[in-house]
Amino acid sequence: MINTRKENPYWEPSRKGFITNYPNFLHWKKLDVDEMQSDRPLNLYVHSPFCAQRCSYCYYRTITGSRKSEVDRYVDALCREITLANERFGLNKRPINSVYFGGGTPTLLAGDNLKQITDTLRQHFNLDNAEFTVEGEPVTLTEKKAEILKELGVNRISLGVQSLSDDIIKLSNRQDTEAKVLRAIEFAKSTGAVVNIDLMSGLAGEKPETWEYSVNRALETGVHSITVYKMELYTNTQYFIEVRNDTLQLPSDEQELSFMQYALDKFEAAEYRPWSFFTFTKEGRYTHVHAPSIWRGDDCFSFGTSAFGRLGDWVYQNSNDADKYIEMLEAGELPINRGHHLTALDQMIRDVVLGIKLIHLDLSAFQKKHGFKLNSLCGAEIETLKNDGYITVSENEIVLTPKGILHGDYVGKSLGKRLAEMY
Ligand code: SF4
Repeated sequence: MINTRKENPYWEPSRKGFITNYPNFLHWKKLDVDEMQSDRPLNLYVHSPFCAQRCSYCYYRTITGSRKSEVDRYVDALCREITLANERFGLNKRPINSVYFGGGTPTLLAGDNLKQITDTLRQHFNLDNAEFTVEGEPVTLTEKKAEILKELGVNRISLGVQSLSDDIIKLSNRQDTEAKVLRAIEFAKSTGAVVNIDLMSGLAGEKPETWEYSVNRALETGVHSITVYKMELYTNTQYFIEVRNDTLQLPSDEQELSFMQYALDKFEAAEYRPWSFFTFTKEGRYTHVHAPSIWRGDDCFSFGTSAFGRLGDWVYQNSNDADKYIEMLEAGELPINRGHHLTALDQMIRDVVLGIKLIHLDLSAFQKKHGFKLNSLCGAEIETLKNDGYITVSENEIVLTPKGILHGDYVGKSLGKRLAEMY
């Protein structure tokens, strides 16, 4: 918007041409006040760290064996956080896109705990048009708990199934069995909510037969949505100890890739279509609101120990020490522990690496938001990814090919790396 025309009189050294403002008023358009006031949508995340057991591959900070009184104290603190954050940031005027109870295992919370949190949220926010998801482990989703979720207005239930093969489940130190999983799925479906189940590829003991069994059984349940996560080995897991001691073998990367390829083929044949590179929904319907909204750059305020969120130019995380989290809130302080101010470049990279998870990256929206054509920033990488068969590129979008979907975050990482070199 700088006047770059050659005949511009101010290109010669001179004291003339004082810059009053930028961009020049010539570029300003008539503006409706409502446009300025339009409140950006907000997503809400609520974290519950409690679990029924410690799964062998899990690297999250979770808490097992808690007494009800300890959970009650945590929930009181969490509700205090919702109130305090609202007072501090004035969040309650913003339209709410989604609410997501994650963990940990939110379905392990007692009915009164779930109700207390939901009531507190409703005191501060209008959830009438929001997607409301609760995550759970199948063994904790009883018929009664499912009814409670329905009463609370939950309209999406996401169950961490991981495997439907009893041998694999046992090796993961989980309490589920195939029969318990199938029962929980029926309870979830009976609420009328959209039901997603997570599978995990690359678990200990997984063989083509067990993986194929899980994928086929998952499809037979007829759930609305199936998500496949790749198991990643972290040092703070039981798996890691056993692999290091040579008492456990995990499937190789090549095997895991072939498991995922099998799942992709089966999902396609069953008309489960991807809306992200790891979630597949019946006929492409029932797409999720929460994660896509965040990946497109919307804010998410997150409550609970170790919860992380985004507000405007800031990303932040609460204390991951649950005791400290509670003590801070009991002292009337917000438990935010660390954060990062997003520069303009951070925001661009974030929009690319998170946005491409949705398979389609809207290049016009990127240019409108950031003022750059993505191609002008990482054209060579885009060309290479296209030639290698990971993406197709049109004037308005980059789209992951089946190969790009199979390789998960690879495209995002490649483009993000190039952009990060501009720091
Ligand atoms: S239930 Fe989920 S969060 Fe809890 S230990 Fe197992 S994998 Fe981790």
